Amino acid sequence: MSARVVITIALRARALRTVCFSLSDAASARRLLMPARETEAIILKTFPLGEADRLVSFLGRSSGRVRGVAAGARRLQNRYGSTLEVLSHVQIWYVEKETRELVRIQQAELLESFHKAQSDYSLSTGLAVISEISELILPEHEVSEPMFRLILLVAREVERTDDWALPLSYFVFWTVRLGGWLPRFDRCVVCGTPFGSKPALYDAHQSGLFCEKCRRPGMKPVHLEARNLAERFAGERLDRIEYEKSRQASVRELREAGLAWIENHLERRLATRELLETT
Ligand SMILES: [Zn+2]
Repeated sequence: MSARVVITIALRARALRTVCFSLSDAASARRLLMPARETEAIILKTFPLGEADRLVSFLGRSSGRVRGVAAGARRLQNRYGSTLEVLSHVQIWYVEKETRELVRIQQAELLESFHKAQSDYSLSTGLAVISEISELILPEHEVSEPMFRLILLVAREVERTDDWALPLSYFVFWTVRLGGWLPRFDRCVVCGTPFGSKPALYDAHQSGLFCEKCRRPGMKPVHLEARNLAERFAGERLDRIEYEKSRQASVRELREAGLAWIENHLERRLATRELLETT
């Protein structure tokens, strides 16, 4: 090998090394300089992570569902206070990392607390169902203004009315509707016969409401009163519907049917569903 060739190779190697260094320098500089993002958010879930941190799933109004780490959030007297409780309405600041799925949460400030609902066992059960469904249904990083507004409205009503029955039923109905899985409420999905005043029937294995002729074993009823309530849910805001005790059965029927359709769509059982029976 001539001296000239050796020198050329050495020079090329040096040039290549310079290119590599400047590329990785640029990447790390970009990582360092990546600006913090800010969004209004609803906390969906948190899990302990290591000794001091928390893994947080939140629905950002402008970011969609995001998962991140809140460092030091498990220590007492930490800077997050009660901002990371389930369904807390917060302003959140976080930094995205190019190479990782989890963002780093820098700061969270409480905009609206649902303290009463979060600290009461029965009420917090209702919040837990809303949180589980939202977490499972919302795709990551996809903005969903209607779901954001729905969750907030429902959490406010649980807090204001001291009861999850009507808000949860409304939430389940609207989640199914926004998801596009709401069946027709006026006629049988198989034969098209109008239900009239007779009960419509459903189960968790198929979508749709069935008439008494087409019903399959084990199906449960949605009576006329519950179907009328669904019509009110479709047309009126939750905070304008009063909860009368006489509606208890309809509220429950509608919730149970909606939960069955959600489970059918998710192809899994909701872990929080059975807690509803114990409160
Ligand atoms: Zn039928």
